[in-house]
Amino acid sequence: MAERTTCLVVGGGPAGMVLGLLMARAGVEVTVLEKHADFLRDFRGDTVHPSTLQLLDELGLAEEFARLPHTKLEQVVFPTGDGGTVTVGDFRRLPVPYPYIAMTPQWDLLDLLADAGRRERRSRCGCRPR
Ligand SMILES: Cc1cc2nc3c(=O)[nH]c(=O)nc-3n(C[C@H](O)[C@H](O)[C@H](O)COP(=O)(O)OP(=O)(O)OC[C@H]3O[C@@H](n4cnc5c(N)ncnc54)[C@H](O)[C@@H]3O)c2cc1C
Repeated sequence: MAERTTCLVVGGGPAGMVLGLLMARAGVEVTVLEKHADFLRDFRGDTVHPSTLQLLDELGLAEEFARLPHTKLEQVVFPTGDGGTVTVGDFRRLPVPYPYIAMTPQWDLLDLLADAGRRERRSRCGCRPR
């Protein structure tokens, strides 16, 4: 089946999916080509960092992300030999809107970005998401 597009992004990782979304929002007809059938392609971690959370907020996707199953990592604390603990990191002290690491699989984040991209497509041309 022949398909035409204006802009082709090769690779549906975080970079490709965000680029595709930004271009769609800018009104560019864009297709993101991912060689795997879904985002479960292989393990790519599960930490979503404060700067990414801020980016999602700026994209208007913070509430949607908050609905994904996730836990919040606010501190990194290790036990010491004497029964105490030592704190080696405390994200709560960061002067940012989301001072924690969200623990959620990368494929959930990619699904969220893909859904947001499909909504842009639907709103511009009346297409149904896949
Ligand atoms: C084991 C592991 C754990 C990690 N843990 C974390 C973590 O906890 N937190 C964190 O923030 N980062 C983590 N990272 C890093 C993070 O996964 C990468 O920084 C991020 O995935 C890079 O995004 P990207 O879009 O540039 O590339 P990629 O995620 O590599 O995406 C590239 C995509 O292109 C596709 N592709 C390649 N060639 C083609 C082709 N010819 N045609 C079509 N599609 C193609 C691939 O299938 C892939 O989906 C981890 C990485 C690894 C490997």
